[in-house]
Amino acid sequence: MMLPRWIRSPAVLFFVVMGLLPLLPAPPFWYTMGNYIGVAAVAVIGLVLLTGVAGMTSFGQAAFVGLGAYATAVLCTAQGWSPWLGLLAGLLLSGGSAALIGAITVRLSGHFLPLATIAWALSLYYLFGTVELLGKYDGLSGIPPISLLGFELDTPRSMFALIWLAVLLCVVLTRNLLDSRAGRTIRALHGGAVMAEAMGANTARYKLASFICAALMASVAGWLYAHLQRSVSAAPFGLNVGIEYLFMAVIGGVAHVWGAIIGAGVLLLLKAVLQDWLPQLLGSVGSFETVAFGVIIILVLQRSSRGLWPVLLRLFKQDGVGQEDGQENGKKSGARAPAVEPAGFAAMPVRAKPARGECILQVRRARKQFGGLVAVNDMEFELHAGEIVGLIGPNGAGKSTMFNLITGVLPVTSGEIFYQGQRIDSRNSREIVRRGVARTFQHVRLMPEMSVLENVAIGAYLRGRSGMLSAALRTNRDEEARLLHLAAEQLRRVGMGELMYQAAGSLALGQQRILEIARALCTDPALLLLDEPAAGLRLKEKQALATLLSQLRAEGMAVLIVEHDMDFVMGLTDRLVVMEFGTRIAQGKPAEIRQDPAVLRAYLGGVELA
Ligand code: ADP
Ligand code: MG
Repeated sequence: MMLPRWIRSPAVLFFVVMGLLPLLPAPPFWYTMGNYIGVAAVAVIGLVLLTGVAGMTSFGQAAFVGLGAYATAVLCTAQGWSPWLGLLAGLLLSGGSAALIGAITVRLSGHFLPLATIAWALSLYYLFGTVELLGKYDGLSGIPPISLLGFELDTPRSMFALIWLAVLLCVVLTRNLLDSRAGRTIRALHGGAVMAEAMGANTARYKLASFICAALMASVAGWLYAHLQRSVSAAPFGLNVGIEYLFMAVIGGVAHVWGAIIGAGVLLLLKAVLQDWLPQLLGSVGSFETVAFGVIIILVLQRSSRGLWPVLLRLFKQDGVGQEDGQENGKKSGARAPAVEPAGFAAMPVRAKPARGECILQVRRARKQFGGLVAVNDMEFELHAGEIVGLIGPNGAGKSTMFNLITGVLPVTSGEIFYQGQRIDSRNSREIVRRGVARTFQHVRLMPEMSVLENVAIGAYLRGRSGMLSAALRTNRDEEARLLHLAAEQLRRVGMGELMYQAAGSLALGQQRILEIARALCTDPALLLLDEPAAGLRLKEKQALATLLSQLRAEGMAVLIVEHDMDFVMGLTDRLVVMEFGTRIAQGKPAEIRQDPAVLRAYLGGVELA
């Protein structure tokens, strides 16, 4: 008999086992161990989101755990508050300080965030250890137990249930979050920020939000810890513990929510075993376990650089059990969504296109200098609705830079760019795509581990509104279905409907370029900029692309295309603009350009004009 899929998933299995455990008369030690693992897992899930998924390394997770623990400890002992109010206070404190630190540092990329979190961890540690109110190095004791539905959770066994409920909640909320419009943006922060901005997402805001989410989960862990331990002191919140949390995340599989539990479990059990056995084995006392620990971690990472979770998953899959995990290959449950497209789906509203022939883009003496190099030299040209214009020229002529100027990826050094009569050269890429200018990138920018469908859905960012909270609570499902449906439609439109559920990274390079076109189409553009879309395509695929672009033109879209394949360009475009060394050397109809002496000179020895 086949069990329904959700029952066979490792997730459900895991929590059934965890739920049954408190009913067993296991020795208290096992519950205590399980509790510490659960508390650590909650903090580490936050790190998975922040470091593993969003790509921001934080050494300060333990400091936020400490904030949560001390907040409830102080309020419940000195003020006699209820632990539940202590939880709230801890969340406010951690969330508030994360917002503050984040606002200062997450915008500053590179090493600033890791360094700032180290500074934060150190200063909080000394604060915990020196302030009278916080009990100095002795800490605070006499913390009351949490009471839930009239039960006092004052034994390891009763806390076990609450702690693992918290773990489950964090897993579910985080996985929901990652499987959404907001989640796709968070998953694109690591390595895809320029692309996400070009699709309209405010990446700085999502970085900050991820940082706050991680701090909130840490705070919950701290709250659980304080009421489990019934006392707090500074030691468990030091920088070394912050580093340990990072180890747990990495060992478990840093980009995997489930990995947090595995990592916390493996590390804490290993530590307990080593602390017991090594002194006996070596016959002397000392911190040998730390050394052994380091070696083991290096060995694990050497065997599986992506942590243990992917390894486990493969084992599970070989058994034919639990096909369900999320992140692996980006084949998330949400990515299968077109199966649940509501019937009678109304098409999304599209923006009114300007009348055919109307001037849509005007570039006036646009200039870009990189130090002494003039990459774009006072370029001038116009583009009209319902027209395909080719921007051609030898390598290094400045075509891609011109694209970057139009789309706000780079600021102009001087000159002006107008879109539908409004100046856009001082706008950022989010505002420009919002107005209807979409693009693809010469060097494809996609998230290789995410599915094709999810990658394309990143382009639908501006077509939705729902945020992180509604994603976590899954009240966004209608909108999600619409966005995924839209993405699926655009994929079918470019002829890639079959490949929807593959990992984008597994596609041929030519297909990845077409994926980028579908993603750009999701933004509902009136002007489409394509940077070498036909590179790597076979003849048939090029013909299909030409047909698609002609269709778009017929619908009134304006297309600016950079392409080296002269047959393709000459056959498709209405006009050409030719650049060399940043300067416009010619413009006109393809037939005229073919015979233009300046153009022929520029191309001599380069690409042959057909
Ligand atoms: P094309 O797309 O026509 O091949 P590009 O616009 O990529 O040319 O490059 C034009 C010139 O500008 C090249 O000499 C390139 O090296 C230089 N360039 C492009 N981007 C940058 C950058 N971010 N910093 C410095 N130089 C750049
Ligand atoms: Mg280029």
